[in-house]
Parts: sequence; C-alpha cells; structure tokens
Amino acid sequence: MSVIAANLQAVTKRIAAATQQAGRDPSSVMLLAVSKTVSPIAVRAAFEAGQTAFGENYVQEGIDKIGALGELRKKLQWHFIGPLQSNKTRPVAEQFDWVHAIDRLKIAQRLSDQRPDGLPPLQVCLQVNISGEDSKSGVAPGEVLALARDIAALPRLRLRGLMAIPEADDDPVAQRRPFAAMRALLATLREAGLDVDTLSMGMSGDMDAAIAEGATMVRIGTAIFGARAPKD
Ligand SMILES: *Cc1c(COP(=O)(O)O)cnc(C)c1O
Repeated sequence: MSVIAANLQAVTKRIAAATQQAGRDPSSVMLLAVSKTVSPIAVRAAFEAGQTAFGENYVQEGIDKIGALGELRKKLQWHFIGPLQSNKTRPVAEQFDWVHAIDRLKIAQRLSDQRPDGLPPLQVCLQVNISGEDSKSGVAPGEVLALARDIAALPRLRLRGLMAIPEADDDPVAQRRPFAAMRALLATLREAGLDVDTLSMGMSGDMDAAIAEGATMVRIGTAIFGARAPKD
C-alpha cells in the first residue's frame, strides 16, 4: 500500500473513532483532502485509494492541478479553501465545485455572476473569525446572519454553511470551545430559516475536537500527504 493510501486509512479510522465517541454516524463527516503544494501525482494516488474530494488554497496552483488531472474531472470534487481576492474569482467560479472562505458580499456576488450557466450552483460556506484574531480573515460572529441572508439570495450560489480556522491550541479541551461556538452559530442560521447543513472545521491537529462539536467536513492535509515544505 502507498504511504498516502495508508495515511488515508489512518485518517478514516480517526474519523470513525471520533464520530463513535460523539455518538454520530461516521458517514456524517466528509473527508476533504487538502492538496495544496502537493503534486498531481500524489492527488492521483489518493484518488486511487478512494479519495475524491480535494481542497486547494491558491488559485493558480489549483487551476493548474485541476487541468493536469482533467481526465478525472467528473470523478473529483474540487474545493477552494483559501482566501480569495476579487480579481481572482473568475477561474474559481468556472472550475471549482465549492468555495469555503467567503467573508464579503462582493466576492460572493462576483462568484455568482461568473458561475457558468451550464454548471450546478457553486456550493459556498462563510468563513467565520471565530477566535476573534485580528490577523485572521472571516466575518465576525455577529455579522454572520446578515451576510448569510444576502448570500443565500444570490442565484448561482448555494449557501451550505460555515467554515472556520480557529487559533491553534494543543489542549483538546480548549480546542472544542471555538468549534462549539460554530455549532451554535449554524443553529442560529437554521432557526432563522436558512437551509444550511455544513460545518467545515477541523484540520490534522484538531479534527477530533471539531468532530466532537459537529463538524460535517474536515479539511486534512498533513495527516494525508505529509508535512509541507514551508512556503517562502
Ligand atoms: C492547509 C489547510 C488545511 C489543512 O491543514 P493540515 O494541518 O495540513 O491538515 C485546512 N484548511 C485550510 C484552510 C488550510 O489552509
């Protein structure tokens, strides 16, 4: 078995254990393999081991990789999970299936305008600055409902839920607090009548805590593909 296949198996077991602990169904958590900085060859190895959903952070790299794996396009789901500038929305609207880190109406409007008619609506999540860090992107929790309502009204987008990257913390108990706040925020949106079902939260270092608090999608890079070379 390849290293990537073995890692995928280990991550799948970790998801199964965390869901069991939380009294949840293992199929209620989708594994998104974060392939930023990873070669198309490694993505193909993951696909051959059964993985079909991949996350990219950088527009040009993502577009190049989608192209390099073009013959698999219909079998793969591509998620754009990085910050998105307004001058780079078009290739994302045209080539990706999901966008996770929307934090401004302007970006959402451009994505909706630029989403080709022949494709299904672009599936989107709002990024929430749940730890209140100055340096992090994301909407403040108090602004989520208003922005979610505006985005849900855009014709070529389908608002699926919320995404967060909480401040890193090694303590598993402390890790759960921001994820619990995310769970409560999603509940607020549902109570307000929005049809949302997705909590995109949890990475290699905190996925167990995220699953304990209701994550429906975990974004895992290092635990599948190994440590990344530092981006200079
Ligand atoms: C890189 C990245 C991940 C994956 O992080 P790992 O710690 O390698 O699992 C998840 N989400 C986002 C937004 C990322 O940029």
